[in-house]
Amino acid sequence: MNFDFTDKEEAFRKEVRAWLEANLPDDLRGRAFASSRAGREEVQKLRAWQKRMHAAGYVGMDWPREYGGRGASIVEMVVLYQEMARAESPQLVNRGGVSMLGPTLMKYGTPAQRTRFLPKILTADELWCQAFSEPNAGSDLANLQTRAVLEGDEFIVNGQKVWTSMGHVADWCFMLVRTDPAAPKHKGISFLLVDMKTPGITVRPLRQITGEAEFNETFFDNVRVPAENLVGKLNEGWAVAITTLAYERDLLTFIRHISLRNALHRLIKLAQSRGRNTDPVMRQTIAGLWIGERALQIGGYRSLTRILKGGQPGPEGSTSKLFWSQLDQELALTATQVIGPYAQITEGSAWAPDHGQWEFYELLARGSGIRAGTSEILRNILAERVLGLPKD
Ligand SMILES: Cc1cc2nc3c(=O)[nH]c(=O)nc-3n(C[C@H](O)[C@H](O)[C@H](O)COP(=O)(O)OP(=O)(O)OC[C@H]3O[C@@H](n4cnc5c(N)ncnc54)[C@H](O)[C@@H]3O)c2cc1C
Repeated sequence: MNFDFTDKEEAFRKEVRAWLEANLPDDLRGRAFASSRAGREEVQKLRAWQKRMHAAGYVGMDWPREYGGRGASIVEMVVLYQEMARAESPQLVNRGGVSMLGPTLMKYGTPAQRTRFLPKILTADELWCQAFSEPNAGSDLANLQTRAVLEGDEFIVNGQKVWTSMGHVADWCFMLVRTDPAAPKHKGISFLLVDMKTPGITVRPLRQITGEAEFNETFFDNVRVPAENLVGKLNEGWAVAITTLAYERDLLTFIRHISLRNALHRLIKLAQSRGRNTDPVMRQTIAGLWIGERALQIGGYRSLTRILKGGQPGPEGSTSKLFWSQLDQELALTATQVIGPYAQITEGSAWAPDHGQWEFYELLARGSGIRAGTSEILRNILAERVLGLPKD
């Protein structure tokens, strides 16, 4: 395993660092580790930021040139994310589109779908949300019940999705529907692209513990979707969905530690400014978090090395997610111990350290062990697929 970046990669780092320094708007700087991204005004700012990054060639960098990307390597992507974190830039607002749907369309989409959708994913002119989960289909996603019936050249969709992040501001969603209820549950599922403005779609915000409503319930009531919006084959959407989820999981394995490092730097400054850096127990706790963040980074580099050598991503995606969520929650808790009662003060008060991001972070971190695979499910994967323990 080689920890060094090549001269070309280091030159790219310099270029992107200088660009971010010159271009990141002040009102977005420093909002990298925990801040609301669901308010409509905020989303507008973030769309404009993605557009600017796209114009400079920094969105979808690993996409092939024919689809508007730069054909860059995964390592350059990692460098870009490291530099965005260093500059305290927010993440791309359309990241579900860029990291998940875009690559899925490149693999399964028709030429017409690629031409129609890919360019506007990159520019954030069309914001995408993911409508997979349902009230009885989260961990057991294949249990989904939302029905789509093909009538002529349209699907008629009926059912309910839940936890649809950014559904209230998205222009389109990629969704899973059941098209053959008689088939075994992993079969008979199809993958559709749906315009969120179609009559019959109702989006109801769900207020979260953080106070914001970033995710939603989404209802589909006789929603007509053109048959040409089917991705992959009819009833074979499960394989498409697995590809979509794998893109999300794989890239995150390499960069997951970056958000932690950002917060950790802030935490150290906070401990210093409050005189807690001389407390031996606190020093030990922070050192433990630092070691954890580095372990996560090195684990990520190991997977990256394996993939660069032509291997496949292994179960380390699950280990990384599980370990990350534990560190994330420990870090948030440690910050509240450093800050004391002020940790409860929300954004907007002059008394809130780091503009209230710690209060937001502590509450946001509650969901870290749920989204993108709950900790219990990840432990099951490790037990069964890595350790080879019996299923029951
Ligand atoms: C912040 C956030 C954003 C999200 N955004 C989206 C989104 O944009 N689009 C989308 O489609 N979904 C989204 N989700 C949904 C997410 O994928 C699900 O919450 C997750 O898959 C868990 O499903 P569930 O909530 O139905 O819980 P359940 O699957 O009902 O699980 C409930 C509990 O039972 C445990 N459990 C379940 N099965 C087992 C088992 N076999 N063994 C042991 N324990 C088990 C779980 O670990 C959990 O503790 C989001 C979730 C969060 C928290």
